[in-house]
Amino acid sequence: MTGSGLPRSAGETRDDALMRRALAVAASTPDGDVPVGAVVLDPDGRELACATNRREADADPTAHAEVLALRAAATALGDAWRLEHCTLVVTLEPCAMCAGAAVGARVGRIVFGAYEPRTGACGSVVDVARESPLHTVAVRGGVLVDECEERVRGFFRGRR
Ligand SMILES: [Zn+2]
Repeated sequence: MTGSGLPRSAGETRDDALMRRALAVAASTPDGDVPVGAVVLDPDGRELACATNRREADADPTAHAEVLALRAAATALGDAWRLEHCTLVVTLEPCAMCAGAAVGARVGRIVFGAYEPRTGACGSVVDVARESPLHTVAVRGGVLVDECEERVRGFFRGRR
């Protein structure tokens, strides 16, 4: 899938369209994992990789959607580990590990949907992305926030 092929209705911004893609990715999260979808775009806006959260499925504490997508994107881009001027789009605010991974990869921009008041590391609890002395990542949060919140809420409702 390429960035230019994203569905886009009137009034939708480019970030909205990217978040719709991340929401579609989140829908394929394995049963039992909190549904989170992440997409990494190259500097021209083409999709390099996507991933869901797989922490429970893989019994891996680092298998968050963002880490898996960044790792696959670096492989796809083929420029060693650097993802300069790339964009990370994710349905839920990244945690400190994932925001740190984005900084380490030199990602240019993070776009996220729902805010995470307990673990969010793009402004909610700490701001790893914008306060790193190493590299600053631009951040936009709250894109399609209602749909992204509903995706996570629906999961926890289904477990009660
Ligand atoms: Zn994370």
